[in-house]
Amino acid sequence: MDTKVYYIDEHDDEIIKKAAEVIKNGGLVVFPTETVYGLGANALDENACKKIFEAKGRPQDNPLIVHVADFDISKYVDYIPDNAKKIMENFWPGPITMVLKKSQIVPMLVTANLDSVAIRMPSNKVARKLIEYSNVPIAAPSANISGRPSPTTIEHTIEDLNGKVDMIIGGDKCEFGLESTVVEVLDDKVTILRPGAITKDMLEEIGLTVDIDPAILKKPDGSLKPKSPGMKYRHYAPKADMTIITGRIDRTVDYINHKINELKMQGKMVGVLATDETKHLYNGGYIISVGTREKLGLIAANLFDTLREFDKIDVDYIYAEGFSEEGLGLAIMNRMKKAASYNIINL
Ligand code: AMP
Ligand code: MG
Repeated sequence: MDTKVYYIDEHDDEIIKKAAEVIKNGGLVVFPTETVYGLGANALDENACKKIFEAKGRPQDNPLIVHVADFDISKYVDYIPDNAKKIMENFWPGPITMVLKKSQIVPMLVTANLDSVAIRMPSNKVARKLIEYSNVPIAAPSANISGRPSPTTIEHTIEDLNGKVDMIIGGDKCEFGLESTVVEVLDDKVTILRPGAITKDMLEEIGLTVDIDPAILKKPDGSLKPKSPGMKYRHYAPKADMTIITGRIDRTVDYINHKINELKMQGKMVGVLATDETKHLYNGGYIISVGTREKLGLIAANLFDTLREFDKIDVDYIYAEGFSEEGLGLAIMNRMKKAASYNIINL
């Protein structure tokens, strides 16, 4: 397939309208959002959505998020709890997805046969214009080949999907760089199914009772089934074998330096996911700072790009400094743990 790539911003209405035509005609468009780039199709067109699964190699049992540009979501859901209204008022448009009971018109393929549907209104202006001009909701998972780190730049999407989609539009690096927070919303409480930029504290601050799905806090072992089907897959995975080191930072640096030397003697190349505070402390290895520990938001925004960078230079092993799981740290460590297949050493 010949993929048309357009570097644009939100003022390029002509191109966004062209992309909207592709969506209306049942095609696939890669577009930017504030979380990660999305691979979109008309959410009400089952055949179009089928192509999403094919292009990504996505397992059929992993449902898609439906993106809207209008606060009136009543057509797509059966029932809107007050808690959902609160979330919309406070955080939409933005990086939080709500799982609600679905209506008939949402195809079962989109929800992977669940009776619930995941819905989000993105804040990115290109994304919203695309949805508005298409005049349909857009189903869109992350625009990467399944299993690879999610795409936070247009280049990442070209790497993965050039030739497999009709059109790629965008240009800006994603503001948050981690996929949206996913919450199941009921009358009495909300449950975080996937941590993201909207944190538990932020949801509690607006008066909600918030649980975290226990299955996302631990290594999957079959005993607890995550309520968000996507969370059971190995994800975000770089090619190299990755290990996260947690605990005191001085010990972490010593341990990783020891590994760099040991593996170098075996002719192996080590990549280190470091921070601005520590990057000068390593001797040897391929060091990438993911940002300063003072700004977790920047670390989140850089994480997937850093993992892809290690793929490019083809390191054999990656050692990554861990982060505290407070606030946004929970989402960062969730993605890192999956990337590392839960290879964690606590010093
Ligand atoms: P992605 O769009 O690639 O970030 O993946 C979407 C995420 O939302 C996956 O983890 C899905 O499992 C989750 N999701 C989508 N729809 C539902 C749903 N109806 N119930 C629970 N989780 C969902
Ligand atoms: Mg994804």
